[in-house]
Amino acid sequence: MSSDQHRFSRREVLGQLGMASLTLPGLTTLMGLRTYSSSSGELMAALDQDSIYGMGTERKLGVALVGLGKYSEEQLGPALEKTSLCQLTGIVTGTPDKAKKWKKKYNIPDKNVYNYQTFDQIADNPAIDIVYIVLPNTMHAEYSIRAAQAGKHVICEKPMAMTAAECQQMINASNKAGKKLSIGYRLHFEPHHHELMRLGQNEVMGKVNRIVADNGQKQSNDTPWRLGGGVGGGGPLRDVGVYCIQGAIYTKGEVPIAVTAKYHPVTDPKKFDKVEEGMDFQLHFADGTVAECKTSYNDKYNKLRGEAANGWFELSPAYAYDGLKGATSQGKMNIENVPQQARQMDAFADCILNNKATSVPGEMGMRDVQIIEAVFRAAQTGNKVSTREVVQVLDAVKK
Ligand code: NAD
Repeated sequence: MSSDQHRFSRREVLGQLGMASLTLPGLTTLMGLRTYSSSSGELMAALDQDSIYGMGTERKLGVALVGLGKYSEEQLGPALEKTSLCQLTGIVTGTPDKAKKWKKKYNIPDKNVYNYQTFDQIADNPAIDIVYIVLPNTMHAEYSIRAAQAGKHVICEKPMAMTAAECQQMINASNKAGKKLSIGYRLHFEPHHHELMRLGQNEVMGKVNRIVADNGQKQSNDTPWRLGGGVGGGGPLRDVGVYCIQGAIYTKGEVPIAVTAKYHPVTDPKKFDKVEEGMDFQLHFADGTVAECKTSYNDKYNKLRGEAANGWFELSPAYAYDGLKGATSQGKMNIENVPQQARQMDAFADCILNNKATSVPGEMGMRDVQIIEAVFRAAQTGNKVSTREVVQVLDAVKK
C-alpha cells in the first residue's frame, strides 16, 4: 500500500484535526499530534462510521445554529451535511419564513426550532449538544453565555466578543456549566495554514523575521451592522483584520509583546462614519520580528506571508473558504483545499466526545480581542501599546 493509499487510523485523524498547546496558567500544556495532511478525501473518509463513529459513539452530536444569516446559510448549513461527528438538529431564528425554509431543507422537527424569546428552552432539548452563535458581533457574548447556562457546548463566531471583559464572562459561564467553548476559527483546520504553522513555527527556512498579513474587502451595506448600523459591532479590524492577527501569531508561534497602528484616511466619509475604513497595524514580537498587517472595507487584499532567513512562504488567497493557493521560495505548494467548516465542527465534536481541549478555545478568542483593543488604542493615541498582559495561548506545532 503506498502512502497515498494509506487509510488514516483514528489517532492520526485526531492528530490532524489538531490539539492545542495551551500556556495558560493552571492549564496543562498539551502538545499537538499534528502531522501534515496529504489528502482531505482520505481524512474525511477516515471520519466515517467505520473508523471513528463505530468506536463507542452512539450518535452524532446535535448542533443548533443561532442566527440564519449569510454565513449560516451559505457555509455552516451546507458544511453540517458533510460532518461525520455532528449534525444540524436545531435552529434559532427570529424570522418565521427562514424557519420554514430551513425546517424543510434540513428536515428539522418543530420541537427543535427556537426564536430569540424561546431560546433558553434549548436547555430542555437533549437533541442539541452544541449551540453555534452566528449572530452580529455585539450579540455574541449574551447568546454564548445563555447557551452555556442552558448546559450546552458553544462555538462562537469570530470576533469572540466586543471586549475582553465580555470574553472573560463567556469563559466563566462555560467553565461554570462544565461545557466547552470554542471560536469559529476555521483556518486552524485547513492544511495550507497547517503548512504555514509548520514552516514558521519550526523555522524550516530559518528564523522568521518578517510577516505580512493583509485581509481586506469591498464591504457593501448588505449586512448593515458591519458598517455600524443597527446593533453595530462591525468594522474591518474586528471582522477580517482578526485573521491577520491569527495568521501572524500561528506563523510565528508566539504572542506579540506590543502593537502599533494607524487608521487609513477616510475616502468615503458617508459610508465610514461609524467604523474605520481601514487600518495598517504592526504586531511586534519579542525577538524583533514584525508582522505588518493591513485591513480594509474599501480595498481587496488576501495574503499571509512569512519571510525567513533562508526563504519565504506565502498563501494568497489566504483566508477564503476555498481556492487557497500557496507558494514558497522553492516553488508552489501542492495542497488540496478542504471543507474547512466541516473539519472545524468535527474537530470540536471530537473534543467533546473524547474530553480533549479544543485548539481554538475561548481563551484564544479573548487573546485576539485583547489585541484588537490594543490595536485600536494604538491607532487612537499613536503610541506603541504593550500586549504583554494578553492571554498566552497558542495553537502550536513546534517540535
Ligand atoms: P448576517 O448579518 O448575514 O447574519 C446575522 C444573523 O443574525 C441574521 O440572520 C440576522 O437576522 C440575525 N439577527 C438576530 N438578531 C439581530 C439583530 N438584532 N440585528 C441584526 N441581525 C440579527 O451576518 P453573517 O455574515 O452571517 O455574520 C454572522 C457572524 O458570523 C459574525 O459574527 C461574523 O463575524 C461571523 N462570520 C464568520 C465567518 C468565518 O469565516 N468564520 C464568515 C462570515 C461571518
